Formats: sequence, C-alpha cells, structure tokens
Amino acid sequence: MNIKKYETDAEAFLSEVEKEYYLHFSGQKDSLSLSGIFDRYKYLFDRNNILYFKDLAGKNSGEGRKKFSYLLKFCTECYLEREVKDLVDGMAAEEAEARVNIEGKIVPFRYSEVLLANEEDKTKRDIIEEKRNKIIDKHFNKNLYTYWDTLHGQAKDLGFSSYSDLFSYLKEEDFFELDAGMDRLLSETQLLYEKHFGGLLERELGIKLERSKRSDFAFIKRAKKYDRFFAKDSLTAIFKDTLLGMGIDIQKQGNINLDVEERENKSPRAFCSTVRVPQEIYLVVMPIGGQDDYEAMLHEGGHALHFGNTKADLDFEYRYLGDNAVTEGYAFCLEQLMQNRQWLIDFLRITDAEAKEFVYFSNIVKLWFVRRYAGKLKYELMLHGGEPISSKGKVYKDILSSVNLMEYSEESYLKDVDEGFYCTNYIRAWIFQSQLKEYMHRKFGYEWYRKKKTGDFLRELWSYGQKYSSSEVLSQLDFKKLDPGYLVDSLTEEIKNYKNS
Ligand SMILES: [Zn+2]
Repeated sequence: MNIKKYETDAEAFLSEVEKEYYLHFSGQKDSLSLSGIFDRYKYLFDRNNILYFKDLAGKNSGEGRKKFSYLLKFCTECYLEREVKDLVDGMAAEEAEARVNIEGKIVPFRYSEVLLANEEDKTKRDIIEEKRNKIIDKHFNKNLYTYWDTLHGQAKDLGFSSYSDLFSYLKEEDFFELDAGMDRLLSETQLLYEKHFGGLLERELGIKLERSKRSDFAFIKRAKKYDRFFAKDSLTAIFKDTLLGMGIDIQKQGNINLDVEERENKSPRAFCSTVRVPQEIYLVVMPIGGQDDYEAMLHEGGHALHFGNTKADLDFEYRYLGDNAVTEGYAFCLEQLMQNRQWLIDFLRITDAEAKEFVYFSNIVKLWFVRRYAGKLKYELMLHGGEPISSKGKVYKDILSSVNLMEYSEESYLKDVDEGFYCTNYIRAWIFQSQLKEYMHRKFGYEWYRKKKTGDFLRELWSYGQKYSSSEVLSQLDFKKLDPGYLVDSLTEEIKNYKNS
C-alpha cells in the first residue's frame, strides 16, 4: 500500500464529509448525501486495509505505532459505517418525515422535542413524551435493531467477541475500569444529587423526584427564567470579547468562519465543522437566546479554536484522528465559563447574587449529565457485550432511571446510544477538563479568562491537534493519570457552597 496516498485520500474524504455536514446543517443544502462520498472513496475502507494497519501497529513502536493505530481505528470505523450507510440514510429520512399530533396540530417529530422543552404543564409534557415514544417503538426501533445487530455481527466477523471488545481494542481503553471509576462518582454524589436536584425540581416544577420523568429534565434545562441574562444579540460579541481578553483575535486569524446568518433550515443548535484543519473551520450559530445557546456556542467555539490553532505541518493523523476526549475536553474548557461566577458578572453584567444562583443551577445540570453518561456507559457495556439485543429495553430503563432518579422509558433503548462508545469520550473529557481547570486556576487564577498568558497556554495545547491523548496531555501537566476524583470535586464544590436563601 502507498501510505502517503492513503493519508492524502483519507484527508480529502473527511474534508468532503465535513463540508457536506456543514452545507446541510447550516441550511444551504437540502439533502444530506454521504453515500456518494463513501462510494467515491470506498477503497479506503477495504477489509484488507484493516489487517494491514493492524499488522503495522503491532510491528512498530513510538510514533509509528501511534499513527498506525489511529489509521486502524479510522479505517475500521468507516468499514463498519459503510455497511450500514444506506440504513442510516433511510433512518434519517424516516425521522425527518415522522409527524406527531400534538393538541390537534401535526408537527415534525424532531420539532416535538423543542415543544417538550418549552411545555410548562407536566400533564401535557407527559402526553408529548408518550406520543414520541410510540413513534420510536412503532417506526424507528425495527431499523435500529437491524442497525445495531449488523454492527454487532461485523465486530464478531472481525474476530472480536463483541462490539464492546472491538472498541475497547481500537480506542485502547479499559471500559470496565472507567465504569468502576464512574460507580465511585455515582455513589459519592448520590446524596448531594438527590437533595439538590430534587430540591430544584420541586422549586421550579412543583414535582417530586419520585414522580419525575426524563422529559421533565428538558424543561428544567430550558430554564426560561434565565433568558433575560442570555440575550441572543450579544452572543457572538461576548464570545469574541472573551477571547480577546486572552489575546486571541479570531477575526484576525481568518481561518475560523463565524457563520451567523439566519437561514430557514439552519440547525438551531451551534456546531463546528472542520473542513480543512487548520485552514477552513466553520463555527455555525443561529442564536435564539437562553443559557443553552451560550453554552453551545462556548462548547463548539472550543472545538473551533482547537482545530483552528492546530499546527498546519502536523501529520494528517494528528490533525484529523486520535483521541476525541481531547477536543471534547477543550470544548468543555471554554464551556466551563458558564460555571464561573466572575465571568458571568463581567460579561453578562449580572449581580453577584444572580451569578451565584445561576452557577448553582448550572452545576446541578452538569451533575445530571455526568451521572447520565455514567449510566449510559454501564448500559452500553451490556447492550454491546455480545449477548442478543432483545430484552435490553428494561435494562436501559432500569439503569438510566437509577442514576438520574427520573423515569426513563424503555422505547429509547436503541436510539439513545451513540456509535463507537462515544460516551467514553465525554466522560474522559469531563475528567480531563476538571484536571485542566485545577491546573489553570493554580497557574492563572479564577479569572484566567482575563489573561494573555492563558491564551498562550491554550494555544500551545491546541497546536498539537490530537497528537497526544488526554492522559498524555495530563502527564505533560504533571498529573499522574485521569482521575475522576477531580471531577467529583469540581461538580460538587459550588453546589455544597451555595446557601439556599
Ligand atoms: Zn463536542
């Protein structure tokens, strides 16, 4: 094989895929057609290539080994994806066409989620959720079953005992060790979560934890009462000004395209597309206002800055592939400003008391998410552990309901699952970010976002793309390893300190 050609073509393939995503979700192209791109580059995902990279990764050491194992993971993931791409296109079309009848109005299934988050009446929220579940059960689950069953079969066909085993190998992660760490986090935060999340539900929604459903969380997170702090017209200016405070001028940099134009079919949720790393990055936003908008902008902005500051002369593998917990970690690193009292006071011009209350709220929401992902990992280890898929609905419901103490419904057991154990990237990223935060507070202070030194430090970290894994970056900052203890402290500190008045 000509490895140089393989790298060049793989980069061109990923670039085309990213461009297609960008055009579709920014509302500039109606259909999303990935199939054609996959067909044009299909030689990249040949089964023989998997064996070839596996062999090379085994024979090499140091950087050589690292690059070949990144290529092995890329090639295997695309090989699996290619097998189900028609099914995926079909499922996306089915979901886009699905409709729900809500109070006599026929609304798109996807939009019903927005209605759910904005519905103040619990009875009405329950009805919307029930209708959504029926559609998932009746229309989506059949294809989803085939989808996961095919992927499980492919993993076995490649010689692994299960899909879980395959991804643990490709990602070089011990999922069970991470699961054990998250079990400790769950038990250490249990009482605090029960008390404070339960209290929030009662105060804001007037319902008790025992009666709550997952759909009630959507409404809590929507948090309309904070909309007045997070105006849509200030979003991009605040983002740019925050970066300027650290000496980072994205306007001058020129490679991060801030797409803020309003278009009818533009995704309301911010996203980042890395078409050419680092030369052509899109940060797409369509602000509607609210805390969620700001959080998404900071998160996606973190991705954009990471890839936009990656050194152009790094090898393809380090600019496009590698450990995604790293980029998620940098995204969380900017997102954490939403839990920084002083940043809220400085940039949103709110009072000290308002900032304290919001940070308390925001940390509880974060704790909810971290606990949810701990549950997702536990469930996915069972779903993808090699046993038949059927009857996993109850397992899903039991595990997720027990971590969030809210009722999940069985129907989403195949839909609420990301490919390739992406859940572990978020979990490791949260841990990584809480250690990075500890380091930044120690070096630059609580108001790190005001210092040019912080900007220089972050730019240096970003410049390596994903050459180093999250554990390797931490060891360069003198941490021994990824340690969930930092995450527990980071999540609980502000909750414990907040005095309910
Ligand atoms: Zn992200």
